[in-house]
Amino acid sequence: MKVLSHKDMICTGESWSRTPPQLRIQMNNQKISEKTGGIFLWFLVKEKGLVCFKETGLFFSSRQTRRRWGTANSGTNRITLYRHSAWMLLHELAHIPVGVEKGHGWEFGETLDILAKVWLSEEWQVILEAVKGGDF
Ligand SMILES: [Zn+2]
Repeated sequence: MKVLSHKDMICTGESWSRTPPQLRIQMNNQKISEKTGGIFLWFLVKEKGLVCFKETGLFFSSRQTRRRWGTANSGTNRITLYRHSAWMLLHELAHIPVGVEKGHGWEFGETLDILAKVWLSEEWQVILEAVKGGDF
């Protein structure tokens, strides 16, 4: 996975995000597995009560050289990740409740920040360590 030293590309809703740039870069360089993504979805729905993600399907594509880093379809609730990073997962997830037709506006930015807070929460970080340690 290509390591990034600067923020995401323009027109990706970054301007609406209040998550500090350094944390965004860090999360965009944080490689995650499909298993971790699935457990995060479970965490959002079952532990955080974010039922809007109940029907979300997550697919990690092996075509990582694609120009696009991910896609979301809020109609079919399907997310495909080409860049397997934590930030890209959060980005595509944010499209689901907001609706793809609304694009990368302020609602998208706020939703992305909420998801970033969940990702960075100690509660999730403990689970993440357990996933990496093979406890799951
Ligand atoms: Zn997007």
